[in-house]
Amino acid sequence: MSANLDRLGRPLRNLRISVTDRCNLRCAYCMPEEEYTWLPRADILSFEETAQLVEAFTQVGVERVRLTGGEPLMRRDLPVLVRLLAQHGSIRDLALTTNGILLAENARVLKDAGLSRVTVSLDTLQPDRFRALTRREGHEKVLAGVEAAASVGFKNTKIDTVVIRGTNDDELVALIEWGKRFDLEVRFIEYMDVGGATRWSMRDVVTRTEMLATLTEAYGPITPVASDPSAPADRFLLSDGTVFGIIASTTAPFCSACDRSRLTADGHWFKCLYATKGTDLRTPLRSGASVEDLAHTIAGGWRLRDDRGAEKRLEALNRTALADSVALRSNPHLEMHTRGG
Ligand code: SAM
Ligand code: SF4
Ligand code: SF4
Repeated sequence: MSANLDRLGRPLRNLRISVTDRCNLRCAYCMPEEEYTWLPRADILSFEETAQLVEAFTQVGVERVRLTGGEPLMRRDLPVLVRLLAQHGSIRDLALTTNGILLAENARVLKDAGLSRVTVSLDTLQPDRFRALTRREGHEKVLAGVEAAASVGFKNTKIDTVVIRGTNDDELVALIEWGKRFDLEVRFIEYMDVGGATRWSMRDVVTRTEMLATLTEAYGPITPVASDPSAPADRFLLSDGTVFGIIASTTAPFCSACDRSRLTADGHWFKCLYATKGTDLRTPLRSGASVEDLAHTIAGGWRLRDDRGAEKRLEALNRTALADSVALRSNPHLEMHTRGG
């Protein structure tokens, strides 16, 4: 099939599916509020409905799928969905992003169901800090989850760390050293002003430049590694052969090569992490639209895409949080934990 390109010449290759908007943590950079508006249960897609939409997306070019949330492992029977998607001939990579709390108990069944890869979000190696940052217990469960992933045979497991000034920016070296022990690639993410990050401030962002300076001081010269331009992380090599990544979405966005979009648990499609409006695919799906009709809608929507949200944010003069808590409560689709990070 010839590539279906958007207005900026970008194909659609990656789909991130948020399987639930619920989460068992309350990370300060994602869910800092006391109260949230949850998606109505009746609106949540069944696994069969999700698989139908995925089929439509693959007809438009999607070949990589990542399950996320909210916390995806809070979705009951998630391995059933994994099995459905893993059997799909057009999906060559099926990954999961999880906070790891429920990973130890699910690793084996996820592997058996056909999941290709796991990314675990972990911002600190210090249990007290974890408690303060996530407002929940469970640091030891995350570490056990990472070990379980290795012991059931997952390869290329990555650790995603959001770096926040004065919170965990003194742990870059410790995280890399810990990653080496377990053969994990650590990726440092710049704190982003996405929906949900109501406490965001540019002052708290540790930039890629600053991270590289800290790591160069600790390790000596660092060499960039050539990587796929559509991949979010820039990868780097230390002199001992260790590879780590930096996702500089805030100060050096990669919109020009962005081939990803997002599907919420209630079937809304967002063509950009920063998009304020999505396309409701659940209503046509539940009204009897065929997979071909849905693929037609997706292809048409993608051709009109001109989003480059993070680059536009970079151009803003007084950059503050994307949306305040009132706006988020009235439109939960703006939340990172709803649309899937
Ligand atoms: N709950 C799962 C987890 O934490 O891995 C999956 C969903 S979470 C929204 C996906 C990713 O988004 C996590 O790695 C998280 O660190 C990242 N994230 C959330 N808010 C962010 C922010 N304000 N800036 C940068 N990354 C953020
Ligand atoms: Fe933290 Fe992920 Fe939950 Fe957001 S969705 S609060 S990043 S664990
Ligand atoms: Fe892609 Fe939007 Fe993120 Fe830019 S801001 S990389 S267009 S999702």
